[in-house]
Amino acid sequence: MKPIVLVTGGSRGIGAATSKHLAIQGYAVCVNYISNEIEANKVVAEINDNGGVAIAVQADVSQERDVIRLFNTIDQSLGKITHLVNNAGILFPQMPISAMTAERINKVLTTNVTSYFLCCREAINRMIEGGAIVNVSSAAARLGSPAEYVDYAASKGAIDTLTTGLSLEVANKNIRVNCVRPGFIYTEMHADGGEVNRVDRVKSSIPLQRGGKPEEVAAAIAFLLSNEASFITGSFIDIAGGK
Ligand code: NAP
Repeated sequence: MKPIVLVTGGSRGIGAATSKHLAIQGYAVCVNYISNEIEANKVVAEINDNGGVAIAVQADVSQERDVIRLFNTIDQSLGKITHLVNNAGILFPQMPISAMTAERINKVLTTNVTSYFLCCREAINRMIEGGAIVNVSSAAARLGSPAEYVDYAASKGAIDTLTTGLSLEVANKNIRVNCVRPGFIYTEMHADGGEVNRVDRVKSSIPLQRGGKPEEVAAAIAFLLSNEASFITGSFIDIAGGK
């Protein structure tokens, strides 16, 4: 039986690279997306063309009803989930806290934090021994993103704490919960922050002198999900070129 993984936000960027990487490793993959059906279908087609198994499921993971529908769809279409990658995330244009509205802050928190809690809940209520979760946090949790998006950085700090707490809650069921903290990775997310070329602007400040690729994050996620990491839980891998 194939392991069954949900990758939230699997249609683009890090989630797309992770979906493809895990499919090659033999997982049946649920590629979740919120609005970009074309990109999600491209990921699924590439996996299926290469002999893998994948489905695309639209769901806004910040909404409880959508999350329940998403997991019920996985139950019916692929079977009981064995692995979860909490990856879907957003940020908004760069600005200091002095200019932020409650609407913006709440949107960031429900999309980046509530969604991870809800997907963890649905996953651990289904997972048996040997299940594993990887939460995608950010180096921003350590760095704070001053004058850019402290709301986003704080949401990622919450994900680090979720990882620690949940890993301890479910360790006696032999379900592992780990976290990756990417740094500056070439994806479309930076355009949402209002700076398409953000990675190139900052790359000279990164010890390895370059930005990262989504595939480099996918490899670390795949390792933490795998049996190669069977004694690793509540741990963090920084994928940030030394920053
Ligand atoms: P991205 O290229 O902007 O892709 C975002 C993905 O999330 C898309 O698949 C999008 O779906 C999906 N999504 C957004 N809101 C959603 C919602 N409410 N429900 C379901 N899906 C939703 O982002 P990325 O750069 O790959 O980032 C992925 C993760 O890595 C995020 O958690 C981000 O915070 C983290 N990260 C990124 C970087 C970086 O430098 N890129 C650094 C550190 C951490 P649609 O395609 O349908 O819009």
